[in-house]
Amino acid sequence: METRVVKAYGDEEKDRELMLEAGRIIREGGLVAMPTETVYGLAGDALNKESSKKIYAAKGRPSDNPLIVHIADMEALSKIVSEIPEKARALAEKYWPGPLTMVLKKSDIVPYETTGGLETVAVRMPLNEIAREFIRASGGYIAAPSANKSGRPSCTTAEHVLKDLNGEIELIIDGGAVGIGLESTIVDMTGEIPCLLRPGYINPKMLEEVLGRIEIDPSIGGVMDAKAHPKAPGMKYKHYAPKGELYIVEGSSENVIRKINMLVREHEEKNEKVAVIASDETKDLYKCGIIKDVGSRMDEETIAHNLFAVLREMDELEVSTIYTEAFDTPRMGMAIMNRLIRAAGHKIVKCE
Ligand code: AMP
Ligand code: MG
Repeated sequence: METRVVKAYGDEEKDRELMLEAGRIIREGGLVAMPTETVYGLAGDALNKESSKKIYAAKGRPSDNPLIVHIADMEALSKIVSEIPEKARALAEKYWPGPLTMVLKKSDIVPYETTGGLETVAVRMPLNEIAREFIRASGGYIAAPSANKSGRPSCTTAEHVLKDLNGEIELIIDGGAVGIGLESTIVDMTGEIPCLLRPGYINPKMLEEVLGRIEIDPSIGGVMDAKAHPKAPGMKYKHYAPKGELYIVEGSSENVIRKINMLVREHEEKNEKVAVIASDETKDLYKCGIIKDVGSRMDEETIAHNLFAVLREMDELEVSTIYTEAFDTPRMGMAIMNRLIRAAGHKIVKCE
């Protein structure tokens, strides 16, 4: 199969044609990659079990790891869930359309192939206009996990998607680079107290403003307990990992810089190719290795936006080891560190 990449911005007439075509592919049971404000998604018809099976196959994703269903309006929500708790309605009112996914009890029309065998369904209404147009053109219910091969960093550009899924899907809608760059916040709304399953742009404080007290799945806290059993099935799998061995180095800035410089020197003495993920503030303080700057610590949205692209770049550079600073930034630090810790397979070097 040939995978076409088509730009979806600028020309109104062409964009309309593209949406019609993309919608037709989905209605016929095919797969299309779509831009959203978080990361690119690999889209299929959420109500067609054969489409969901195709998504798992294209991604190489374990079939017990459920897909998020993307909708374009509240009417669609009432069709795919069996009840909408008051708190879920309030959260939708505040943060939809946007980078928030809610887990709710599924209705009968959602096949178990889409929910990984669960009685619940994860639902999101994206903010990205192209995504919403495409969802409408496709019939209203799009199952879309992140458009990367299972285990790889998520895709924040159409080029990343092509690299992972060339020949496996019909079409990539190129909406340019995504805005946020980390996947949506996931909140389980099926229990008495809402529970955060995956941190994202919408942080715990923003959720509490609407919901009052929330629980936080212990597997996602700042420094994750490797043994905790996550409630979102996907969170138990190794994810986001570059091919080189990634280590997070934690401690005071001064100690981290000294430690990384020492470790990199040791590798270079053995003729190994090593990279360092640093910030604007620290990049000039590293003396050896390939230095990649993810952005300023004063601008955490840029760090989030660049993170997956930098992890992917590590593969292009063919480095065998990567050391990264920790980014416990105030607003998005939980989400950034959650991705980094999983990418590193929990390998953390502490240097207090
Ligand atoms: P991705 O599609 O790559 O963004 O991953 C989707 C995430 O949502 C995975 O971690 C899934 O395990 C999680 N998820 C999807 N549906 C559910 C559900 N019904 N209950 C709990 N977690 C879910
Ligand atoms: Mg993913």
